[in-house]
Amino acid sequence: MSKIKDLLATKGNEVWSIGPAHSVYQAIEMMALKGVGALTVLSDEGQLVGIISERDYARKVILQGKSSKSTPVSEIMTQNVVFIEPTYRVEEAMALMTAKRVRHLPVMTDGNLVGMISVGDLVKSIIDEQSHVIEQLERYIKGETAGIDH
Ligand code: AMP
Repeated sequence: MSKIKDLLATKGNEVWSIGPAHSVYQAIEMMALKGVGALTVLSDEGQLVGIISERDYARKVILQGKSSKSTPVSEIMTQNVVFIEPTYRVEEAMALMTAKRVRHLPVMTDGNLVGMISVGDLVKSIIDEQSHVIEQLERYIKGETAGIDH
């Protein structure tokens, strides 16, 4: 079973972040530029103080008729960030996302941000692993291999 650290080894440790005083417009601009749906929010000291996703923008800016250029990230970000560690199994991370109804999980080690995992990353990993098992089973059934390698 894959662990989060295996995903990060392929995906990389890049985490796109923004400051709490930046505007929501700047946050959305950065999400579009980097092709991501959420950004971690870091204080000037580099501490993780929140997370902002496209969903916050849709619900707390557009629906409420606010201006993205005059609303700071701090006003709409979620402060209690749910995070995981590199030792988590992919299935554990998926269960946490489902339970907390979020699609992004920062990965932390000893208080340091070491990656960001999205629901898309987890789904891809699960599909890849299942395809591999199916392929091994098919070869086993056809007698091409002596056993199943997990
Ligand atoms: P998402 O599904 O990731 O687009 O986010 C849905 C809502 O959950 C938004 O209000 C986000 O700010 C919040 N959110 C997303 N990821 C996390 C997380 N890891 N911890 C806490 N809140 C989050």
